[in-house]
Amino acid sequence: MNAHPVYLVGAGPGDPELLTVRALKRIEAADVVLADDLIDPRVLALVKGRLLRVGKRGGCISTDQHFIHALMIREARAGHRVVRLKGGDPFVFGRGGEEVDALREAGLDVEVVSGLTSGIAGPAAVGIPVTDRRASPGVILVTGHPGEGRAEPDWAALARTGLTLVIYMGVARAADITSQLLAAGLRADLPAAVVSAAHTARQRHAVTTLTGLPDCIEREGLQSPALLVVGEVAAMAALDALPLGRQQAG
Ligand code: SAH
Repeated sequence: MNAHPVYLVGAGPGDPELLTVRALKRIEAADVVLADDLIDPRVLALVKGRLLRVGKRGGCISTDQHFIHALMIREARAGHRVVRLKGGDPFVFGRGGEEVDALREAGLDVEVVSGLTSGIAGPAAVGIPVTDRRASPGVILVTGHPGEGRAEPDWAALARTGLTLVIYMGVARAADITSQLLAAGLRADLPAAVVSAAHTARQRHAVTTLTGLPDCIEREGLQSPALLVVGEVAAMAALDALPLGRQQAG
C-alpha cells in the first residue's frame, strides 16, 4: 500500500479562491503535482513541490494517458505525496474515473477531492443559474466532443427533455450541434449563451439565440475553453458581467 493516497484534486474553473479548502491543503502539501493544461497559473503558483505539466498543450512531456498513469504510479510507489490536479471537478469529463481505475489496479489508494465544475460555476460567473424553477427544472451536462470512436450524445433526445443544456467542449462543433437541436424541434429563438475562460483573467461571454449561436461564436471570437448554455436560463446572463480580475480591481 502507498504511504499516502494519490490525490485526484479538482482545481475548479480558474480563480484560486474557488479551490476547496481541502484542495488547497493537498496542493500545498504535495511533493509532486501532475497538472493539466487548463489549470490557472494562479493555482499553479500555489504548488510548493515539483510541478509536472502533463496536458495536451503542455509541450515537452508525453500526453498519453498511459504515460500519466505510469508517472503517478511511479511517484506514489516512491513514497511521494502525489497530487493529480485537474480542471474543474475531476469526475466531470476529466478522465478521473479512468485514472482512479488505473491507480486501484496498481494497488494504490486514491482520494478524490471534488472541485467546482466549470459547467455550473462558469454560467454562474455571468449570472446564469443552470436551473431556475421559473425557467428550467433541471440541467444536463454533456460533452460536444465525445472522443474518437465514441457515440455522439442523442441530441434529439436531450432536446425533448426541455432541460437546460450545458455543453462542454462544444465550441468547435457548435454549428453541427445547433442544427441537430433545431432539427429536434428546439425554438430558433431559444436563448443561448457562450461563456469562455470563466473565472480567469480572460473571461468573456455572449448571449444570443440557438440559431445565432455559431455566428456569435465566430463574430465574437469566443474560444475554447468554453461552455455553451442552451435554454431559457441563458437569457438571465448579466449583460455587464466583467472578467473576475476587473471586478476585483474595481
Ligand atoms: N473537469 C472539467 C472539465 C474538463 S473538459 C470541469 O469539471 O470543469 C474541458 C472543458 O471544460 C472545456 O473544453 C470547456 O468546455 C470546459 N471548461 C473548463 N474550464 C473552463 C473555464 N474556465 N471556462 C469555460 N469552460 C471551461
